[in-house]
Order: sequence, then C-alpha cells, then structure tokens
Amino acid sequence: MSESRINDIAAKVEAGQRLTAADGTFLFSPEVDLHAVGHLADLVRRRKNGDAAYYNLNHHINPTNICIYRCGLCAYSCDEGDPQAYVMSSDEVLARAKEASDAGCTELHLVSGAHPRKNFDWYLGITRELHAAFPRLQIKAWTAVEIKRFAETAGQPVRSVLKELMDAGLGSMPGGGAEIFDSQVRARICPRKVDGQTWLDVHRTAHQLGLRTNASMLYGHIETIEHRVDHLVRLRRLQDETGGFQCFVALKFHPANTAIADVEPAFATEDLRMVSVSRLMLDNFDHIKAYWVSLGVGVAQTALAYGADDLDGTVRHERIHHAAGAQSPDMLGVERLRSLIVEAGCQPVERDSLYRRVLRDGEEWRVEDGEDLGNRKLV
Ligand code: SF4
Repeated sequence: MSESRINDIAAKVEAGQRLTAADGTFLFSPEVDLHAVGHLADLVRRRKNGDAAYYNLNHHINPTNICIYRCGLCAYSCDEGDPQAYVMSSDEVLARAKEASDAGCTELHLVSGAHPRKNFDWYLGITRELHAAFPRLQIKAWTAVEIKRFAETAGQPVRSVLKELMDAGLGSMPGGGAEIFDSQVRARICPRKVDGQTWLDVHRTAHQLGLRTNASMLYGHIETIEHRVDHLVRLRRLQDETGGFQCFVALKFHPANTAIADVEPAFATEDLRMVSVSRLMLDNFDHIKAYWVSLGVGVAQTALAYGADDLDGTVRHERIHHAAGAQSPDMLGVERLRSLIVEAGCQPVERDSLYRRVLRDGEEWRVEDGEDLGNRKLV
C-alpha cells in the first residue's frame, strides 16, 4: 500500500500535478521513506531553480525585546522592568545599520517586540531613518503580527499602515508570526497574538499593494501532521490568489527558556522531511529556505538536497532563535556559506531581498538588471 501510494505521488510530481492535503499527510508519515520523499522534492527544486542555491548578506536588528504578547513559544520577549529587557536608541539602530553597510550587506532584517508604550510612529520612524541614512540597504521588516499591532495603535487600517511604511522605505516583509494557523494550537502557544486568518489577511493586503513577503511555519512543538498540512494548504491558497510570497521557511522550534520547555526538539530526519514536504506541497512557491540559524548548519546544508534552494544569509546579530537554545554560530562568513553550497553540489548565487542576483566588483555591488529569478507576478 505504502509503496503504491508513493508511486502514485511520484507520478503526480513528475507530471507537475498538484498534491492533495491527503498526499501531504501521507508524506509526513515517518513510515514513508524519507529519502524517497527527498528525491521527489529535489526534482521539484531542480525544475524551479536548477542547481542554484541562494544566499544573501544581511544583518538582523531587533529594536526591542519588550512585548505585550508574551507567547508561550517565545524565549526572546520580556516584560518592561525585566533585567533582560532593552530598547535600542535611534543611534544604536543606525550604528547597527552602518555596520551592515560597511560589511557589504544588501539587507536589514528587522523584527521586534510589541512594546506597550511604543506606537506606530516609533516603528515608522525607525524604518524612515534607516532608509534615509542607508538607502541601498533593503529593509525587510515587521511581521504581520507587528503590522496588525501598528494598525491598532495608529487607529488606521492595515492598508494605510503598510502604505506609510512603504513610503518610508519598507522593501519587503519577513514571514514570521505565522507559527501554526490552527486556532487550538495558537490558543496554547501564542493565545494573545493575531489569529491565523489575520496573519493571512495582512499578507494579502501587502501583496495587493505590491509588497513581496515571505511565509513561515513554526514546527516541532505541539502541532500534529494535520495542522502542518492545513497550514501549508492555506499558504498555497493565498499564493494562488496573489502570487506575492517569495519563499517559505519552516522554522524549527527550540524549546529552551520557553513556557513549553519540556517539548523534545525535532530530529534532523524530521527537519529534512519538513523541508521536503513543504517543497512538494507549495508548488506555487519559487523558493524554499533552509534557515541555517534555526536548522543548524549541517542540516540546512543537507536540506539543499531535500528540496531547499536557499540558506538565508550571513545573519549577524540574530537573537530570537539563539535565546531559545539554537546552537548555530553567531554568523557565517560569505566564503563559508558559498563553500557549504558547493559541497552540497549546488551553485552559489548571491541574491538580494527580492531574489535578484547580486553582482560584486570589489567593494561595489549591484543587482543584475533585467534578470527575474523566478519571482511571480503580483495581482
Ligand atoms: Fe512577542 Fe513575537 Fe515573542 Fe510572541 S513570539 S512574545 S509576538 S516577540
């Protein structure tokens, strides 16, 4: 039964047909040969991206870790007054951006806590100041959770908040805050923040405005296989509608210092299966990211043969996954990233936030004109 079922799915994949939710559930089963699933995912990955594997040069900035939501899954956030709590000054944020610019980065990745006494203008001001001071750094910032909070504090619709941010220099949005869309799981791991439908609605609005975004899933905590499949199908449905997602990243849950610290972290085999099934189910996503900070360097590199085509970036100053016990290094140098990709049998391609190829000549860099690395046309 299992063998004939995988053969049926293989025939669909080879013919470029869409897999059903039931197919996804089957492929997640630990009884199905991981390497057979990985082989199928690699077929799709090569069809979409050949042997290219993408990376970028980026630094992270998290302006504050004070957050009103205090999700059970989070090891990073604090209440005001906690000895670990911090709020970066404008000078500190700009100094971080200068460091990124001096290091040749093309991207700043900004996500933050929802501070109880900082309104939309504070986050908008950070976006504007960064863009004014470093116009060549692409600002990929603010999760859908934060955008919804900005709208609430500003008393404005999400659409106008996004427009103001785009006018201030926002270039794209990260995929964080999606966790698992299922409401019962959210009620246990992040009961106070936006529900799954709101997360999707914010991204829909962003796509309608021409803003590209990423998508994510946090896995390996209390969710079931059915919850994962439901999450992927809901992302796929929105991508059918808008085409605005650039990539999907499956984020591995790290339990240390969270309210659910007794959860056993996923094994590497489960991580690889997650990448592969994502690649197979999300047939309308161009890119599947193996985020080395979350997966660990070795698993992320291996994932390049299991459906992933992107390792993310050099990632200096990541705090969120490391606060929860991720053992990955503090950053990776460009040569290390490139050699990981070559060792995996792929061709390293530096990209910018929008998956355009970056060309370098000494300290100068530019985005290759006219080349579209597979991004989809927006609605
Ligand atoms: Fe706040 Fe995000 Fe942490 Fe939840 S996961 S507490 S929204 S920083």
